[in-house]
Amino acid sequence: MRGTGTKSRLMAAVVVAVAAPVAAQEKPGFRDTPMLPGSQWRVHDADRPAPGVVAPAAIPGGPPADAVVLFDGRSLDAWKPDRSAWPIENGVLTVPSRATSGGENNLVSKRSFGDLQLHLEFRSPTPPTKSSQDRGNSGIWFMQRYEVQILDGSQNPTYADGTVGAVYGWKPPLVNAARRPGEWQTYDIIFERPRFAADGALRRPAYVTALLNGVLVQNHQAMLGTTIWRKVARYTAHGDAAPIQLQDHDSPVSFRNIWVRPLPAAAIAQDLGRGGR
Ligand code: MG
Repeated sequence: MRGTGTKSRLMAAVVVAVAAPVAAQEKPGFRDTPMLPGSQWRVHDADRPAPGVVAPAAIPGGPPADAVVLFDGRSLDAWKPDRSAWPIENGVLTVPSRATSGGENNLVSKRSFGDLQLHLEFRSPTPPTKSSQDRGNSGIWFMQRYEVQILDGSQNPTYADGTVGAVYGWKPPLVNAARRPGEWQTYDIIFERPRFAADGALRRPAYVTALLNGVLVQNHQAMLGTTIWRKVARYTAHGDAAPIQLQDHDSPVSFRNIWVRPLPAAAIAQDLGRGGR
């Protein structure tokens, strides 16, 4: 550089003057904005941690990087062994026939979960046989207690709180978004476990949000209690985590691409005015 010492010092000062605002921009946001209610953070708080990164799947519907894969088309390793394993053929898992299994044979995950996001794909048997609750019946039993119904919902009249997309025995789906038997269908479900006090009293019910084939069928719907046929569901206190169960209802429903993401406490929506959860 040809500049004199004085000039160099001047240039250094200019560099510092320019650099200072750049350093401040490393954490965009503000430190002089109002505090948010029920929060330790300000509006647009510069110090609020950025969300963690989760790489989504390359293919829509595939498991994101942090998912727990329960079925990838190859094995039942994520499920408890039973007296008769559900058969896997060409990457597809199917409820076994009672002749093979010798009786009701639900599939139960080895791992336990509480709050979670679930994705699975199912296919009602074709050609359809029987009718109503005996056609393509299965179900996703969260915590082995709370059923979101799987049924052949295409041209299959049944009671409204028992069709596909229903919280069984409680809430019909908002709409019937079923595909025809033989076609793959997607379920994307957010399940929030119930909360119990130390004495077993219910503090907060379970909630479920469900999309069937991309269509909203349950929107943050409170669940009434443990699913039970022909009776009003009610809660019985239980732990914070329990397995997922896929129902054997004596119908050869098929499954593929099953994964879940256990959810952190932050996933539970914060109620206004209560200052936390
Ligand atoms: Mg069912």
